[in-house]
Amino acid sequence: MTYDIDDRGYYGEFGGAFIPEMMYNNIKELANNYLKILEDKKFKDEFNSLLKNYVGRPSPLFFASRLSEYHNTRIYLKREDLNHTGAHKINNTIGQILIARRLRKSRIIAETGAGQHGVATATVCALMGMKCVVYMGQTDIERQSPNVLRMKMLGAEVVPVNSGNMTLKDATNEAIRDWISNPVDTHYIIGSVVGPHPYPDLVTRLQSVISEELRFQVKELTGEENPDYIIACVGGGSNAIGSFFNYLDDVNVKLIAVEAAGKGVTSGETAATMITGRPGIIHASRTMLMQTDDGQITEPYSISAGLDYPGIGPVYPYLHKTKRVFFGNVTDDEALEAAFRLARLEGIVPALESAHAVAWLGKHKFRKNDIVIVTISGRGDKDMETYIKYMDENIS
Ligand SMILES: *Cc1c(COP(=O)(O)O)cnc(C)c1O
Repeated sequence: MTYDIDDRGYYGEFGGAFIPEMMYNNIKELANNYLKILEDKKFKDEFNSLLKNYVGRPSPLFFASRLSEYHNTRIYLKREDLNHTGAHKINNTIGQILIARRLRKSRIIAETGAGQHGVATATVCALMGMKCVVYMGQTDIERQSPNVLRMKMLGAEVVPVNSGNMTLKDATNEAIRDWISNPVDTHYIIGSVVGPHPYPDLVTRLQSVISEELRFQVKELTGEENPDYIIACVGGGSNAIGSFFNYLDDVNVKLIAVEAAGKGVTSGETAATMITGRPGIIHASRTMLMQTDDGQITEPYSISAGLDYPGIGPVYPYLHKTKRVFFGNVTDDEALEAAFRLARLEGIVPALESAHAVAWLGKHKFRKNDIVIVTISGRGDKDMETYIKYMDENIS
């Protein structure tokens, strides 16, 4: 079984590139060149060298003994939180800035929700001496202010977006508009496996380094070829597909994608796209989408800015339909509780997004001997305000 895109950029009936004519040349240039560039030896050497010496890869796989005891199974944490800039997003931005350079672009634009992708983009722009403009919803600017300050220190221009509910979806719309107005010198670094073809495939390939490392780390730590479970949170789905990619054909490895339920999947305040959505087109891609009966996009909600997106990468409805990936969901409160559990049992403060993956451990009965991988997609520094508030109200 193959889970690759077809030559038109589709996973089954999902994906594609529903773009305005004005974007056609940009997308075509990227689609025609990205595979050639990714397979070029000089590109690979440069990418791998930066991942090793700048990002600090491979990221550790850590046996969490106290958390394992708590859940009565064997839990290993894939530590993407230890990457430079504190999340998995940098894997993708390093790859894309190298591609942008080969396409002779001098200006980079990006959208950001939690600010992690904005920081990762501003970082590689500083590293390569490129101009950087980051679009960010006003709501997110207010709830993720440390990351806004970091982007500014790194020399990026942060443009506030005041349309919609002023979060990730709206920032993405603005970035697309910018690209249409600046088609020649600009590359758009999308931060997840979303958007028009070739972005879902491009970002998947760049993030697949996570499961490439897991393949040898699991063997080294456990002596087994394969884990029993891999669990990751899903906003657009880049840390999850990166964690799953090299195991897609190993059907005995159970792959769990955890969505943000917000205040509950039936509460009307949720970001659980796979349960509450229907097929539709968002950001030029046909995928599952949270929408009203007449097809207007519903405003998503999650306490976690990185999961607060009404769509999902087009590979996911396909992986869901083919039953290769199981979808779980976790509420705000469950995620907060799991974040404190991980902090106090293992000394690791996760990003709120990653805490959703950790919380799913409590929603499933594992066997004592199962090997369970949880991807910690990022660190929790940016979420301290939310954590402190929760602590003051709930924990002594
Ligand atoms: C952006 C982000 C996510 C969600 O994005 P995906 O593309 O679904 O991985 C998850 N965790 C962290 C820490 C993030 O910064």
